[in-house]
Amino acid sequence: GALRIETAEKRVRADINDYSGILVFAEYRHGKVAQVSYELLGIGRKLAEQRGTTLSAVLPGGAVASLAQDLIAAGADRVFLAEHPLLEQFREDVYAGILEQVIREQKPEVVLAGATAIGRSVIPYVANAIDAGLTADCTRLEIRESDGMLLQTRPSFGGNIMATIECPHTRPQMATVRPKVMAPAEPDPTRRGEVVVMQIPERLLQSKIEVLETVINTDDQVNIQEVEALVAGGRGLDSAKGFALIRELANELGGAVAASRAAVDAGWIPYPHQVGQTGKTVSPKLYIACGISGAVQHAVGMQSAEIVVAINKDKSAPIFDIATYGVVGDLYEVVPRLIQRLQEM
Ligand code: FAD
Repeated sequence: GALRIETAEKRVRADINDYSGILVFAEYRHGKVAQVSYELLGIGRKLAEQRGTTLSAVLPGGAVASLAQDLIAAGADRVFLAEHPLLEQFREDVYAGILEQVIREQKPEVVLAGATAIGRSVIPYVANAIDAGLTADCTRLEIRESDGMLLQTRPSFGGNIMATIECPHTRPQMATVRPKVMAPAEPDPTRRGEVVVMQIPERLLQSKIEVLETVINTDDQVNIQEVEALVAGGRGLDSAKGFALIRELANELGGAVAASRAAVDAGWIPYPHQVGQTGKTVSPKLYIACGISGAVQHAVGMQSAEIVVAINKDKSAPIFDIATYGVVGDLYEVVPRLIQRLQEM
């Protein structure tokens, strides 16, 4: 069917009981749906089942029709497809307008987006336009049984406490969710769902943003959130050259290079490698921390790794509290020996 789109009404106060269903903002990048969208569908499916309601996704993009079934397989009951050549290029005001229209039409009680560069820029626009609350950067979401309220948990005060936020007076309850925190559902290609092709009015495609140039980050093709082994270097490396050794170990393991903020701030390695509160959250199978003390702001980004190996010459470094295996020693002695052992295997 076609979605009817009405002119935007401003500032309609939510009558909470009018709202039902969970809506996920699916992210489209370079012809693909971003991994975080599948994670949102995973948690969205759980919330929908608890609430006895449906799970929908909205997918704006240039050529997205062929991707709708992937979202259904991952748990969506319904996909609102906003397909147009002008949507190939991400522009936050246009994407926000589309999401806003779906929300006004469908009145979902919960709207979820990834806490990614895209999600973080679109969602505040929408929350402002519809006068709804927004909790950024959630790491846990659950429904309170007594009243169906969405409990939105996120790290606060530099990761020192976990704050649980609820949104009692407005709808939808909106949250951005950190990538790599929620588990995606096992895809079921036989799952059936409804695809709603949106008719997009011209005015929604008009943007105040003009894209002058797109620069692809070619520094390191590997996304540290998507590999199974990470070798991370910190201030203990003592210079940019130390990363050559870190990279050698990472290559030996078929993994990628990560870093603490101290190493990034020192200019030894670019920001996309930073793990932690102001960097990326990662959960590889193996995380080897070399010359990293394990400050809480670093730990929040990597403590869900399956196996953490810490190499540090200070046996009282806090990284040893979260390490599965610890090596007390000079990384410049330990890492070359590790590389040698791996080469012998
Ligand atoms: P250090 O704490 O200086 O630790 C270096 C370690 O190397 C020491 O434990 C030392 O014993 C060891 N060492 C030295 N030489 C050797 C050697 N030869 N062999 C073996 N070990 C050696 N940090 C992040 O990482 N990510 C973030 O996203 C982040 N966000 C932040 C946000 C805020 C608001 C704030 C205030 C801080 C943030 N930080 C972040 C910074 C964080 O608090 C720490 O300062 C930082 O993580 C320290 O980095 P490090 O462990 O590399 O350095």
